[in-house]
Amino acid sequence: MSDAKLWQRIRSGTEGQIVLLGFPHDEGVKVNGGREGASKGPDHFRYWLKRFGTVHNPEAAEDLSSLAIADAGDISAKLPLEEAHAELASRVQSILKAGGIPFVVGGGNDQSYPNASALLTCKDAKEVGVVNVDAHLDVRPLKDGRAHSGSSFRQLLEDPRFHGENFIEFAAQGSQCGREHADYIRSKQGRILWLSDIEQQGHAVDSFQASLGNLAWDCSCLFVSFDLDSVAGCDAPGVSCPGILGLSAKDAVSIAYYSGSHPSVCLFDLSEYNPLIEDERTGRLAAALFYYFCLGVAARKETSL
Ligand code: MN
Repeated sequence: MSDAKLWQRIRSGTEGQIVLLGFPHDEGVKVNGGREGASKGPDHFRYWLKRFGTVHNPEAAEDLSSLAIADAGDISAKLPLEEAHAELASRVQSILKAGGIPFVVGGGNDQSYPNASALLTCKDAKEVGVVNVDAHLDVRPLKDGRAHSGSSFRQLLEDPRFHGENFIEFAAQGSQCGREHADYIRSKQGRILWLSDIEQQGHAVDSFQASLGNLAWDCSCLFVSFDLDSVAGCDAPGVSCPGILGLSAKDAVSIAYYSGSHPSVCLFDLSEYNPLIEDERTGRLAAALFYYFCLGVAARKETSL
C-alpha cells in the first residue's frame, strides 16, 4: 500500500527501535504558575499523529517501513506528580535497557529531569550530554520542595552524576530568562546559545548540528529535550507560555530530523503541548516532529549498514 501512514506501523508495547511514551501531567506547570492543559498533550498528539505522515515519503531518501516503532501508552494520569515522575524514570529506564530510543510526549517540562535521570542511571553518566531546546532556561529552584515545569535543568545540574559542561541551552530568549539563571548555568559550566546568536549564524539546524557535534566529542549518549515554546507563537500557539519570537516550524522539524539521524541520540522528549490553548496547528507540528525524528532514525540505520 503506497499511502500507508506512520501510525499504522506503530505496535502497542515497549519493544521497538523507537518507543513512544506519554506523560499526561500538568501539575508541574501549575506549580510553576502556568496554565493547565498540557495533561491533554499525549491524547491529542496521538489524534494528530493518526492523520499525518506517509511511510513511503517520495520526497525523502528514507523509508519508514523497516523501522520498529512501539507505543508504550501513558504514565497513569491518576498518580500524584511525584509518583508519576518516579514511574516515568522507571519506564524510560526499562526502554533504554531494552535498546529502544524513548520519545516521551508531555505534559509539562518537569518530565525532563526524570527522563535525564533514567539516562544517567542506565549509561555511563560522564558520557551523558543534554541539549535543552527551549525559550526558557528552566533552572528555577524547587517550589516548597516540589519539582515543577521550570526546575528540570536545575535538578539536572545539581545531580552529582551529571557533568555540567555536557549541557547546552539552545534557542533561549533573553527577554524570558533571568540574569541570575543565566549566571547559574555558566557557574555549572553549562553553555547557552541564545536565539539571537543562532539567527546570526544562519540556519538554526546548522547551529544545532554544531551543538550536538560538540557534545558528541565527549558524550556517547545524548538527550534532546524539546520544549514547543521554543517555536514562535505563530507556528506553535498551543503551549503553556507562547512567545512572539522563536524558531520556525521548519527549524523545529529539521532539528527533530537531525536528532533522529545522530547516532548518539538515545532519548528525546517533547514538552508543553497544550491543546486547551490551541489544538490543531500545534498538534500537527508535534506529530510532524515525531515523524521527522523517525525519518532521521531510518537514515541512521541505512548509514550504519
Ligand atoms: Mn521549558
